[in-house]
Amino acid sequence: MSVERYPGRVGPANPMHAPTGRVILVRPMATRAAAPTPTVEAPTADSPSRPDSLVDIEQNPFAAVNHYFDLGANAAGVPQDYRLLLKTPYREMRVEVPVRMDDGRLEVFIGYRVQHNGARGPYKGGVRYHPEADLDEIRALASIMTWKTAVVDIPFGGAKGGIQCEPRGMSQRELRDMTRRYTQHISYILGPHRDIPAPDMNTNAQIMAWMMDAYGAKHGYTPGIVTGKPIELGGSPGREPATAQGLAFVLEAAAPQLDFKLDGARVAIQGFGNVGSWAARILARMGCTIVAVSDLDGGIYDDGGLDMPRLMRHVETEGTVVGFPDSGPISQEQLLTLECDILVPAALGGVIDARVAEKVRAPVIAEGANHPVTPAGEAVLERRGVIVLPDLLVNSGGVIVSYFEWVQNLQVYRWPLEQVNSELQRFITEAWRQVRSTSQQEQLSLRVAAYMIGISRVMEATRLRGFV
Ligand code: NAD
Repeated sequence: MSVERYPGRVGPANPMHAPTGRVILVRPMATRAAAPTPTVEAPTADSPSRPDSLVDIEQNPFAAVNHYFDLGANAAGVPQDYRLLLKTPYREMRVEVPVRMDDGRLEVFIGYRVQHNGARGPYKGGVRYHPEADLDEIRALASIMTWKTAVVDIPFGGAKGGIQCEPRGMSQRELRDMTRRYTQHISYILGPHRDIPAPDMNTNAQIMAWMMDAYGAKHGYTPGIVTGKPIELGGSPGREPATAQGLAFVLEAAAPQLDFKLDGARVAIQGFGNVGSWAARILARMGCTIVAVSDLDGGIYDDGGLDMPRLMRHVETEGTVVGFPDSGPISQEQLLTLECDILVPAALGGVIDARVAEKVRAPVIAEGANHPVTPAGEAVLERRGVIVLPDLLVNSGGVIVSYFEWVQNLQVYRWPLEQVNSELQRFITEAWRQVRSTSQQEQLSLRVAAYMIGISRVMEATRLRGFV
């Protein structure tokens, strides 16, 4: 594939081009502990790439994503004024979400929806419920979605949403009321041709069903308003395991080209939710030996390989991998630095920093999670020759099948599972081929090659539309 470059300025720098009027800057309720202040400022024409210190890049997720954006934009030859436009989120919405808790208390949660870029199609991205789901994190994840949907060439832009909350310990009734209220408050900027949420960390098909219902109460029956819904409500076969299935397809395509083996490979997985648990099951079926897994409560290890069907039954009854018979305990850091063939981070971002990266012993990392490796961690891994299969590509299976779900909703038709999986394989394998060949031709890391392709496509759509 040839990626078009943008060698010159497209137009004169104009402060009016910075859509700062649309950016609502708010200080998140809980600021991340290590973030310097101010964490993120609205970029200006004079200072297009703030924050620019190394500390910011390492500790602030939006700055870290923009660091990769700059590398990809350099490779693609994007002019400075367009960089400002492409980096700046189009719209950021912050809403209060009051919920009467079961014990009678009134709790006021803060929710966000960030629409990063819609040049290539409706905004698309998950909704995360997490104590650290602050504006910087949601911005970073929204920006990642812009480049991810472009790399795999599906007709969406990038968005992300979230509520800063600790969902563990909340009752189903509290979660439902919180979800409904959040959806009502952001519904003005949603729509099947405007912005389509999906599940992310601590959200699932049930939450999507509540979102669809809350939206439909005002707008009428609209299954295409969310993806990752239950199949009974218009969800797609294969959506639940899609992210992990996509990860497995990328590993399958990459293994012969990058000279590693899947059959018999020893795999360690951090996170045992949607992405992690499905990755464990699918990779085990493909002949890998899953030697370690972890969740928020801790990790487990079995040198001979964990028995997946038994582990799934254990998690169903106990709610955690911890305590699985015939396994030993392992800490999160021990798991990330375990001697194994493939490491799959599938939980939070930023877990592999420079210190951890020095100790990683897996020769291959497949990023199930979004931005699990920090820029400093990436530099160490690169120096040590560790292959990093980047999040933009590796975990894109979820949004690819979300695209198929949206198409089925618009068609009012259901595809069989075989069709979903073979189309997923086609899209993600083609994206892998393009990322790999760009990285070879341009002498770039796989991550920067993925950013270069994504940025070039968004840039071209922006130019064609005549935004500026
Ligand atoms: P999930 O809520 O289903 O599961 C998250 C898992 O991580 C749980 O097992 C949880 O216990 C564990 N976890 C949470 N904090 C942890 C910590 N500090 N240490 C160790 N484990 C921890 O979430 P998910 O949907 O599987 O998402 C996981 C990651 O994958 C996120 O980064 C998400 O953005 C990314 N992702 C998800 C999808 C999707 O379709 N669900 C798609 C692309 C990327």
